[in-house]
Amino acid sequence: MAKVNDLRSAIEYLKTIPGQFVETDVEVDPEAELSGVYRYVGAGGTVRRPTRVDGPAMLFKNIKGHPGASVVIGMMASRERVARLFGCGKEELGHLVQKCAAAPIDPIVSDEPAPVQEIVHRAEDEDFDLFRLIPAPTNTPYDAGPYITLGMCYATHPDTGLSDVTIHRMCIQSKDELSIFLQPGSRHIGAMAERATELGQPLPISVSIGVDPAISVTSCFEPPTTPLGFNELSIAGALRGEPVRLVKCISVDECAIANAEYVIEGEILPGSNNVIEDQNSHTGFAMPEFPGYNGPASRECWLLRVKAVTHRRNPIMQTCIGPSEEHVNMAGIPTEASILGMIDKALPGKVVNCCAHRSGGGKYLAVLQCRKTVHTDEGKQRQAALLAFSAFPELKHVILVDEDVDIFDTDDVLWAMNTRFQGDRDIITIPGVRCHPLDPSSNPAYTDSIRDTGISTKTIFDCTVPFDLREHFERAPFLEVDPAKWVPELFE
Ligand code: MN
Repeated sequence: MAKVNDLRSAIEYLKTIPGQFVETDVEVDPEAELSGVYRYVGAGGTVRRPTRVDGPAMLFKNIKGHPGASVVIGMMASRERVARLFGCGKEELGHLVQKCAAAPIDPIVSDEPAPVQEIVHRAEDEDFDLFRLIPAPTNTPYDAGPYITLGMCYATHPDTGLSDVTIHRMCIQSKDELSIFLQPGSRHIGAMAERATELGQPLPISVSIGVDPAISVTSCFEPPTTPLGFNELSIAGALRGEPVRLVKCISVDECAIANAEYVIEGEILPGSNNVIEDQNSHTGFAMPEFPGYNGPASRECWLLRVKAVTHRRNPIMQTCIGPSEEHVNMAGIPTEASILGMIDKALPGKVVNCCAHRSGGGKYLAVLQCRKTVHTDEGKQRQAALLAFSAFPELKHVILVDEDVDIFDTDDVLWAMNTRFQGDRDIITIPGVRCHPLDPSSNPAYTDSIRDTGISTKTIFDCTVPFDLREHFERAPFLEVDPAKWVPELFE
């Protein structure tokens, strides 16, 4: 595998693999049209059908209104592609990233000239205008505005001096203002903005766009695997076997990713969390979110006042469609790693693998492949499900299957549900637990058990064979052969 350490080397590598990358010179409008095209090329995930599952990544080289810039989408919109970019098999991603989270390599700040600072625009320049500088697409005609969907937000806690990287949705609101959505009372950068507000200070922040996919995926780790103060860039460092290189920002006291395509530098203003996200469009919507529905516009976004934009020559803007397979992989692979890490501590050897399934956007549904070898393993599969809910609080559904089921093959998982599951004894529900607010059924109007938006019934579907009945559940065996003897072209 060629060395991948930034977006451009990742693109060059994908170009060498048939079926993983396409590009076009045909002009495209970043306003809704670009996403409209990619929906048919490779979005997948929970995107409204028809869409193409496991299609290629796509580079648009002729962006209406943005001469010299291009936009890439779908870099991580296939599990196979992410596995290639990480140099492992697609079944191994959760385990690999979990190992990296357990042996992190901290980023370093470098004094060398940074590629991302080749071109510099300062907010005080007369012609400074984010709408013109950043070819940020809208996903649909109903979006609140142009969105930065893959911005690596990097900030430092005012008390501890510890840094964090997290992806948040940001909408361009004016020539030097972004709205940034930080879930109230949670997550990493949000806690820093809240603390800076208590101190009456702005929070310096950098937003790096167009980076190594190793950074995009590992930035999506959440507590408890990466509590406040755990810099997720150190997981990307472990994945590449060398530290992520940072550069000092030119306008604020913060660092950014040195080999990004774009960096937006600025400050989150204290107490500014009353920005109306759709103040320009008045559509009521933000953008399509990972569950596949249009997310509501927030009335409590924070204001990010931009001080500078730096970028490479002929920069490549990177974007994703909210409900696409790209979200599934970015959210789901860290989810798998978190679940595997926790179960491995509590029940070593009892769960072979985990799949954060695409139908839940990588967050709502996990399939656990369980191993039962002695009679005392019976029931541990349900304990494993409880641990999975603890490892990733936004998880709603867990499907438990045995070792002989391919958890990455939905047909096989549903086969287990059809032949190893009885609804009256194998469904376990835990009502009234806080999950994720973007699930539209997570609403008090839906059922009495939901007291507030974002509360759900966590459910375990136990499709494993009861250990004492296992002799009745052996799958029909076949003669083992080498099929390449008959059709070598299929088994190269
Ligand atoms: Mn984070």
